[in-house]
Amino acid sequence: MPKSKLDLRNPIYHDDDKAREHFESLLWPDGPVCPRCGVTGDRITKLQGKSTRPGVYKCKDCRKPFSVTVGTIMERSHIPLSKWVLAAQLMASSKKGMSALQLQRMIGTNYETAWFLFHRLRECANNPNPGPLGGANKVVEADESYVGGKARNKAFGRPPKKHAVFALIEREGEVRSFHVANVNATTLRPIIVKTASRKSYLMTDESPVYPKIGDEFAGHGAVNHSADEYVRGSFWYTNTVESYFALLKRGVYGTFHNVSEAHLYRYLAEFDFRHNTRKLSDAERAEALLRGAQGKRLLYRQADRAANG
Ligand SMILES: [Zn+2]
Repeated sequence: MPKSKLDLRNPIYHDDDKAREHFESLLWPDGPVCPRCGVTGDRITKLQGKSTRPGVYKCKDCRKPFSVTVGTIMERSHIPLSKWVLAAQLMASSKKGMSALQLQRMIGTNYETAWFLFHRLRECANNPNPGPLGGANKVVEADESYVGGKARNKAFGRPPKKHAVFALIEREGEVRSFHVANVNATTLRPIIVKTASRKSYLMTDESPVYPKIGDEFAGHGAVNHSADEYVRGSFWYTNTVESYFALLKRGVYGTFHNVSEAHLYRYLAEFDFRHNTRKLSDAERAEALLRGAQGKRLLYRQADRAANG
């Protein structure tokens, strides 16, 4: 019986050849594909020999060698592939996220490498072509919240700035969250109409920002947070988006101990990804995360420097 992918003794987490084979099976389910020509099958030969490192293939059309990491976020990374695979597993299975400090301890790298790994995996989590939320007879909940701004030591200086996050979530469906400069209609309207199908029913709180935008949708319901309206019916609520924010905040404050403004969008991509793949098993979610490495090549200046500290 094959070992479960959740078993940390699985060789894909510590044997780089096994990790590469795992990565190949995810990115090339039908065999190696030339990253330049897109050719497969008998146009590809596997390079073998004492001087060749494993996992190198050659394309008969462009005559260039390649491996599975070409064109992915791992291409210019010196971090062993097994550590990427393990870090992806840990991120995929941690509901409130995992800190780089914790990852550092678990995979035996320096802090900078662990930090780099998780941020790059957040790039993998980012869906560059998300489909619209909602549709006819579907409900999309919208809400705003604030994260950050909890000072570690209030005696010193001004408390850190709070950052506004806006989220749209289809009930029983996917979420899209955004770090926004503010929560006025000028900022939110373009996001809402671009993200959610206007055939949907939009459910918001009673903020004056929403009625005009709501008119553009098939319907608009506004829930009064302060009143006891959660019990108004099985339809009139924004609990789905509120649950999303509750989990995000547990991550921001409990796991990451605040996040910087510059990186907030990366954490949002991570939490969106986990929500949007919640019906998958942890192992399947980790595989989906690794598949997201495709087509996200790093720039030279982004490539990691320290490999194993
Ligand atoms: Zn080729």
